[in-house]
Amino acid sequence: MSGIAGFLDKLARIVGSAHVLTDPDQLEGALVEPRGLYRGSARALVRPADTAQVSAVVAACAEARTPITPQGGNTGLVGGQIPIGPEIVLSLKRLNRVREVDPLADSLIVEAGVTLAEAQAAADAADRLFPLSLPSEGTCTIGGNLSTNAGGVAVLAYGNARELATGVEVVLPDGRVVDVLSKLRKDNTGYDLKDLFIGAEGTLGIITAAALKLFAKPKSRETAFVGLASPERALALFRSARETFGGGVVSFELLPRIALDFVLRHARGARDPLAGPHPWYVLVEFTSQVAAGLAEPMTEWLAGAAERGLIDDAAIAASGEQRAAFWLLRESISEVQGVEGGSIKHDVSVPLGAVPDFLTEASAAVARRTPSARVVAFGHMGDGNIHFNVSQPIGADKQTFLADWEGMNEVVHDVVAKYQGSFSAEHGIGRLKRELLLRKKNPAALDVMRAIKATLDPLGIMNPGKVL
Ligand SMILES: Cc1cc2nc3c(=O)[nH]c(=O)nc-3n(C[C@H](O)[C@H](O)[C@H](O)COP(=O)(O)OP(=O)(O)OC[C@H]3O[C@@H](n4cnc5c(N)ncnc54)[C@H](O)[C@@H]3O)c2cc1C
Repeated sequence: MSGIAGFLDKLARIVGSAHVLTDPDQLEGALVEPRGLYRGSARALVRPADTAQVSAVVAACAEARTPITPQGGNTGLVGGQIPIGPEIVLSLKRLNRVREVDPLADSLIVEAGVTLAEAQAAADAADRLFPLSLPSEGTCTIGGNLSTNAGGVAVLAYGNARELATGVEVVLPDGRVVDVLSKLRKDNTGYDLKDLFIGAEGTLGIITAAALKLFAKPKSRETAFVGLASPERALALFRSARETFGGGVVSFELLPRIALDFVLRHARGARDPLAGPHPWYVLVEFTSQVAAGLAEPMTEWLAGAAERGLIDDAAIAASGEQRAAFWLLRESISEVQGVEGGSIKHDVSVPLGAVPDFLTEASAAVARRTPSARVVAFGHMGDGNIHFNVSQPIGADKQTFLADWEGMNEVVHDVVAKYQGSFSAEHGIGRLKRELLLRKKNPAALDVMRAIKATLDPLGIMNPGKVL
């Protein structure tokens, strides 16, 4: 046996023939991302069960010069997990063991294919909190979260995925295993290698396990849905929240009225918590380690904000169901936007104080380009991270509108650049923003990135066509 058949046979001897899938029907789910925006091709979907098998598969691929696309839950939003072809897709889903929960060290060690929800549950079972939280948490994996340095709705209090990892285990593009799976909070033994692989989107190696930070579970939590006049007021409200509750401010999410309109129109069970319409809304959540210690301060804080004219109305969640109903309004936005037709997306960040001016100027720039396009700018305002999405004009042709994707991006990203912002705040580069990265990133920084890539992956087999 020789050529591709011999290569696939070699992989089958490593992982078992049931885990080298070549049938087009079995491959299909790994070749397209759920929104259908990216489709690729691959020789096989390979599903190793542990780090040793990942290492052997990667070594075989290096020998055969066969590229590899690592894949976790396939929820990435920039196409990084979809093979361009004709490489193999290496699924990490069978690496699904919780290796260790250490409540005393506040540490959790899990394999890369453990879903985010399973990692949260493992922490919860030990009466601890793993705070990373994304709408895709039932499907996305820890390996994918770290590879994209995922953000989500609790970054304000706990940081991005990067801040939540103390160590990783990684298979290099030649099959060797780098074991820096440390649960230590202090370890200054040379370069911080874990940070090289976190956020690398599978272009430098394959994360097979991670040591994660755990926290005390909050004893009380309060959530409010607030109506207000403008992003300027929302910014002032955020500053006031931080002054009053410090690190207890876990989430501070901004929504425009149009986003709420979309959700009320299309999301099942969605209800407006406030009596009348408001131009903007904030979903704010506080936690505390003092049992039942938050309701009164939050009510007083909201009353004070109303007296000072910062907010116009607010509802405080009186139960877990009400809290979930508030979050449904925020977390349905991306999905319901699809029902309203095509949308051109921008996952951007600017310095916090610049958010209101950015919103005004970017909206004006969009209006100049496509006068009846609908700006739906929402997101993690407390992080300065706005999902600046532009929905097509009512009744417009979807394909014609989407054909202007790059032109619209340019207009919005020019405003981002004016404020020294980022054109990729939390979703990564993948395939979607590769050209943009090459055009916009500082040339010396790009050179350093290329040098790192060439050193670790001289054959260029690790997730080619992504990031660089
Ligand atoms: C509804 C929805 C809401 C979302 N909300 C947010 C949000 O609020 N914040 C946010 O940051 N993201 C969000 N995302 C994006 C997405 O969930 C994250 O990017 C997630 O972290 C990816 O995990 P995954 O396991 O699905 O990875 P995949 O999609 O499978 O892969 C993503 C990238 O990581 C690489 N990769 C995957 N596993 C490994 C590994 N073990 N080793 C090396 N490389 C690997 C892939 O090659 C690819 O480049 C959302 C997605 C959806 C669908």
